[in-house]
Amino acid sequence: MHNNNSLSESITALQGALFINGQFRQGAGPRLPVENPATGEVLGHIASATAQEIEEAVSAAHHAFAAWSRELPKTRASALHRLGDLISADALNMAQIMTAEQGKPVNEAKGEVLKLAEACHFYAEEATRVHGEIVPNDQPGFQSLVVREPIGVVAAITPWNYPAELVGWKLCASLAAGCTIVIKPAELTPYTALAIAQKCLEAGIPAGVVNVLTGQGSQVGQALVEHPQVSKVAFTGSSAVGLHIQRTCPQVKRLSLELGGNCPMVVTASADLDAAVKGAARRSFRNCGQICIAINRIYVHRSIYPAFLSKLGAAADALSVHNGLEHPAADLGAMASAEPLNKTRAHLEDALAKGARLIAGGKAPEGAEYANGHFMRPTVVADCTHQMLVMSEETFGPLVGVAPFDDLAEAIALANDTPYGLASYAYARDLTEIHTLSAGLDYGNVAINNVDAGIMNAPYGGRKQSGVGYEHGREGLLEYFNFKHVRLHHGVGN
Ligand code: NAP
Ligand code: MG
Repeated sequence: MHNNNSLSESITALQGALFINGQFRQGAGPRLPVENPATGEVLGHIASATAQEIEEAVSAAHHAFAAWSRELPKTRASALHRLGDLISADALNMAQIMTAEQGKPVNEAKGEVLKLAEACHFYAEEATRVHGEIVPNDQPGFQSLVVREPIGVVAAITPWNYPAELVGWKLCASLAAGCTIVIKPAELTPYTALAIAQKCLEAGIPAGVVNVLTGQGSQVGQALVEHPQVSKVAFTGSSAVGLHIQRTCPQVKRLSLELGGNCPMVVTASADLDAAVKGAARRSFRNCGQICIAINRIYVHRSIYPAFLSKLGAAADALSVHNGLEHPAADLGAMASAEPLNKTRAHLEDALAKGARLIAGGKAPEGAEYANGHFMRPTVVADCTHQMLVMSEETFGPLVGVAPFDDLAEAIALANDTPYGLASYAYARDLTEIHTLSAGLDYGNVAINNVDAGIMNAPYGGRKQSGVGYEHGREGLLEYFNFKHVRLHHGVGN
């Protein structure tokens, strides 16, 4: 059970706060409410950053870059280790803040906070292992050094589904590389980002290296995209907003865009059926399906289709849905807002109207606990076709569509029949099927016989309309560097 007093104290301390140049201050702009999606209560207000505050934050980051980029990698690594330690020491408190604004159950939120701490330590280690190359020349007496230099000021713009990790990956990579950063978190989940800023302050990260501005994406986020002193935009969010950023960015600058998905799962006749069902239930419904790599649609070999459906229906029905602060161990909490809930309902209605069969869920859980929040039971629909939105668009809710297939080439073609290319999943035991799937699925991530497509040590990114650039791994860190080629004539051997 959470401690209401300490949670409300933590959130009270963050009311109307902006973090600029190493200090928390009250924003001068209009206030925007932040709601608890499980109860509809207003948790507090954030400040909409003004043009002057945006200018001050970018300018602070710009000035701090000169010294931070020249610190020894070892020094930046120590700062990141301290940050990771402070975050893990306060994980429960930070998790409760996240649950209050986002809805996911506290235990799951705590897992996310601990993974952010892990990211701090991972990037701290990587920071000291960034090196260049000496490359051969076409004349004697010359040497070419290819060195890496941090890009400059990064604007991080993030969504509400993973309020700690999606801020954290950009923050950790920036700090490790020697970049400075201005973070604009989602309007729905600003307090987690401000709580991370508090940890940066406690960790002794120099003033101006990290800044957090709250407010609306179309104003504060857009102003950062347009700011000439911002050298890179690291964006995670919808494909529509990502494309808008790419189109409206008025200068040439680096962009990394981690965008939407519409992720398929293929279950072949050789699959371990129970493992496939377990994976499907986890990756379709965790965080209420509000995951860019959530399973949106499942193709099952016709020979096991009825068995798969009845097992997945039972697995969905067995999941618990609760207020995630009151029930830290619940499987699902509230959805983050009315918007993804309404979209989920619209996809469900569309599927049923076009002939899909309801296998599980389909409505909100019943009872007073759910009356004022954005809740929905995990929902499975069968006999789906690509004419249905549940198969053709990202639902971003606890709804999954299932369809049968007869041969593997057909399943792969269906899986690839989308403008998105973020993550895909397959369950199979036949080695030829496994190789055919891993080669044939046109996605940045392919998880086979598991549903955890991302690990900290491997590059994570989308293709097609799911984005450009990578996070995680060495590749994720290298996104924060420019190359410099130094061609030196030393004359030795001339
Ligand atoms: P969103 O509407 O695109 O918003 C993302 C962020 O962009 C928010 O901070 C938003 O601010 C801001 N924003 C909105 N308009 C902007 C503009 N004109 N200029 C600059 N910033 C702007 O996405 P969402 O609804 O929060 O998140 C869900 C989406 O994120 C899904 O499509 C999901 O697949 C995707 N996602 C992708 C990944 C990945 O790794 N590929 C991971 C997680 C989520 P406000 O909150 O103030 O509107
Ligand atoms: Mg949005």
